[in-house]
Amino acid sequence: MRYLLLLCLVFSLALVATPALAQTDIEIVSSSTQADFPDALTFKVVAQSDYPIKEIVLCYQVEQVSRVAVVSEVKLKFTPGERVEASWLWDMRKASLPPGAVIHYSWIIKDAQGRVLTTEATSVTFEDDRYSWQSLSEGKITLFWYKGNRDFAQELMNAVQGSLTRLAQNTGAELEKPVRFYIYENTGALRQALIFPQEWTGGQAFTDYGIVVIGVSPDSEGLAWGKRVLPHELTHLLVHQVTFSPYSDPPTWLDEGLATYAEGDLRSDMKLLLQKAIADDSLISVSSLSSPFPADPQQALLSYAESDSLVSFLIKEYGRDKMLQLLESLRQGNSYNNALKQVYGFDIDGLDISWRASLGLPPRSTPTVAPSATASPTPTSVEATPTATATAATPAATLTASPKAKSGGSSASPWIWAGVGGFVAVLILLVWRLRR
Ligand SMILES: [Zn+2]
Repeated sequence: MRYLLLLCLVFSLALVATPALAQTDIEIVSSSTQADFPDALTFKVVAQSDYPIKEIVLCYQVEQVSRVAVVSEVKLKFTPGERVEASWLWDMRKASLPPGAVIHYSWIIKDAQGRVLTTEATSVTFEDDRYSWQSLSEGKITLFWYKGNRDFAQELMNAVQGSLTRLAQNTGAELEKPVRFYIYENTGALRQALIFPQEWTGGQAFTDYGIVVIGVSPDSEGLAWGKRVLPHELTHLLVHQVTFSPYSDPPTWLDEGLATYAEGDLRSDMKLLLQKAIADDSLISVSSLSSPFPADPQQALLSYAESDSLVSFLIKEYGRDKMLQLLESLRQGNSYNNALKQVYGFDIDGLDISWRASLGLPPRSTPTVAPSATASPTPTSVEATPTATATAATPAATLTASPKAKSGGSSASPWIWAGVGGFVAVLILLVWRLRR
């Protein structure tokens, strides 16, 4: 916020330099915002001056967790006069902010006398005001919900706090910034809150904003699902916070492995798939798991199970401090191979060998090729990769999970992507990303 103020201030000081001693008689009569969730946010201002007001600029900045947010400026259209009203409608179909996104803004107003008024920065939260949200906070976590009693929210909170404790104890990783969950009563209500809702969307994690929106029904079935999916998505936000580097994302097996690990015991269907792959010696290589997961539902599920197994192996064999060092090394922008070598003394293939040995399997007969296993110089590489797998995938009505399609703004999990083919999911997500 200070950053915004500073920028806007520099802007206005430059303009005000000539009539420096003139009194600023420009006044704000009113300044307000109106949310039309999720489509638009309108900023309105009424100002007056002794001289005709000829320019109104809105400076705004969306609060983000890790990136330096860009300050945007919009020149408002209005008829100049001594008392003017102006407004600007921010079309969220282009910005797609999640509920709870915080926007800092200020006005810069100029009159015909060359005088400038810069208002103090103020904040508005883009709330989904169609519901009466209740909230529950503990530490850095806040849950917002509107359907179900406090026990429902408390149970979800306990699951989330339990996973944070588990992660802190076993990996040393802790949340650095607040995380907010917006819990809708079901996926239907959730989809109405999203700009580009998809049939398969059960939730969405907006990592840059520290926000997860999710549909969890306040019944026993919903609760059981929520108690897994909230810790899972929370972990993605945590991993994003502790590994954020402008150069690369963490390898998929680490991100998804930690998220699955945070849920607690491995899901029984995943456990079975893993056991079968070990028995058949058909495990997917660590190198392949560094890239987005396969679109094939069974292979995707196996990928999650293997990732969980890999993370558990590293924690059990080498301890929590090493895991923390690995995350830190990735934050410093090291490639996957270098980060692993630095911390554990083996590269991706070496990890594959050690992990397989722990499962009673010999090294692979053919070494894996790892073209995409090193950190790439652009942060968009992971987003771009799903196209390759998407074209090879077949939509399947029975799909229970699909590959992670991680991006700077959001990510999805096997919990969240339920019911529809990975091909469609990945493609739609890509389109959505491109339209952002
Ligand atoms: Zn996930």
